[in-house]
Amino acid sequence: MAPREKTREMKRLREALEAKEAELLSGLKKREGIEIEHAADTIDVQQKAVDLELRIVNLERTSALLRSVQSALRRMETGSYGICAACEEEISPRRLAAVPWAPYCIRCQELADQGAVSLLEEVMNVA
Ligand SMILES: [Zn+2]
Repeated sequence: MAPREKTREMKRLREALEAKEAELLSGLKKREGIEIEHAADTIDVQQKAVDLELRIVNLERTSALLRSVQSALRRMETGSYGICAACEEEISPRRLAAVPWAPYCIRCQELADQGAVSLLEEVMNVA
């Protein structure tokens, strides 16, 4: 990629990351506190437990994504953006265009999905 083109692409990716960060933050703020209300009957209690579980899963997913987005923005500052956090190979521009906050190349992402990279991640503190 030509240098000028690359600069433009980085600007586009940064804007995408910042927009995503803002979106996730407002989503987290809007979310009401997680609490269990007193319910009159058993079905209601069960329904509320299911709702609560869903809300916690969503909350965890949103915070994990937010961490990845903020970590990608930090890597842009330090110049390590676009480098796989596990194997230090370049992440393909096509992958970054699709997932601007991707910390890993496609190969390491597959390993991470299997849980193999989590230890490495802890050591390098890139999550
Ligand atoms: Zn990799």
